[in-house]
Amino acid sequence: MKVYLDNAATTPLSDEVLQVMIPFMKENFGNPSAIHSFGRTTRAAIETARKQVAKALNCSPAEIFFTSSGTEANNMAIKCSVRDLGIKHVITSPIEHHCVSHTTDYLEENHLATIHLLRVNDKGQMDLQHLEELLSQINEPTLVSLMHANNEIGTMVDIEKLAEICSKHGALLHCDTVQTIGHYPFDLQKTKINFLSGSGHKFHGPKGAGFIYINADTKIKSFIHGGAQERNMRAGTENMYGIIGLGKAIEDAYAHFDEHKNHILSLKKYMITRLQESIEDIKFNGDISDNSLYTVLSVSFPPSDKNETLLFNLDINGIAASAGSACSSGADTGSHVLNAIKADPARKGIRFSFSRYTTKEEIDFVIEKLKTIVGSKETVAS
Ligand code: PLP
Repeated sequence: MKVYLDNAATTPLSDEVLQVMIPFMKENFGNPSAIHSFGRTTRAAIETARKQVAKALNCSPAEIFFTSSGTEANNMAIKCSVRDLGIKHVITSPIEHHCVSHTTDYLEENHLATIHLLRVNDKGQMDLQHLEELLSQINEPTLVSLMHANNEIGTMVDIEKLAEICSKHGALLHCDTVQTIGHYPFDLQKTKINFLSGSGHKFHGPKGAGFIYINADTKIKSFIHGGAQERNMRAGTENMYGIIGLGKAIEDAYAHFDEHKNHILSLKKYMITRLQESIEDIKFNGDISDNSLYTVLSVSFPPSDKNETLLFNLDINGIAASAGSACSSGADTGSHVLNAIKADPARKGIRFSFSRYTTKEEIDFVIEKLKTIVGSKETVAS
């Protein structure tokens, strides 16, 4: 048996998504910028995808721009805010994905903006009181860039509250929603956000296709220079099949939202209970309440000499999970997120992340393997 519990790193493409992509890999190949019928066919399909994304978020299709990835969308939001909107300060957190934190590092190193780090507690929750204090002290244009859900520990910020605070202080808000698109019911008519980002491969769409939402009142210019694609906002011939797949994937995610959420949440709770029953001194990193992201469970195993090889042993038993961040899977460089929440370095943090395709049998299989690898409660006690 092979069990894939690394869905926060990437999800498998769904069959439904693959089916809509295939014709655009072969017969519908026209360049969407071309005015002939070949181009018109692919242009129409891209515009359908844009409407699918806009419908899912309750915004206008004119506010959606396709990118190559969540990474590009996040770079664009932050760098273009500084370049085009006179932003002088960026408030961010120590637990952001590297595509945000390395971007803010770059701004700081090149004296392009002053970076302020928000306090987070030992569950990875953002200190919104601290945000209010910072925003009250700073008197120059400010961008707040905070992630909606942490990709390593699943802790979430109350995005509506965050938007309210930024609005009250006249700050722009960029939210890295790469982990929550498809897993959270956004309503951008109600929640005032300037930028958010998404990535198709996190919700059973293809890799290499992402998008940025830019609120209609927020006027930035292109990040990538070249042709007039994406209404002059993102040059480069479109990744058509990627975009078309992303559109179908987001539509499917929200068409079955409650069903998928209930299924995944029940499996996460089941795994928490089974771990607590089966393994001595098990702990969890981050927030595991119902306010956290239901696809992610970060488990903290007791100190042991087996820790170093835990992920490897899971892998040879057919189980894919991740240590720390998705993007550094396999490379044990230590997690900046677990460091920031002051997780015990002697304990091993493993992230298990679920999808709508995960089954209870798979969780049972993982628990049985963990019992043999790290020792079950009974064997530990004896
Ligand atoms: N932001 C978060 C929170 C992520 O988890 C990831 C990917 O793991 C990204 C951004 C980057 O997205 P992409 O893989 O599309 O570049």
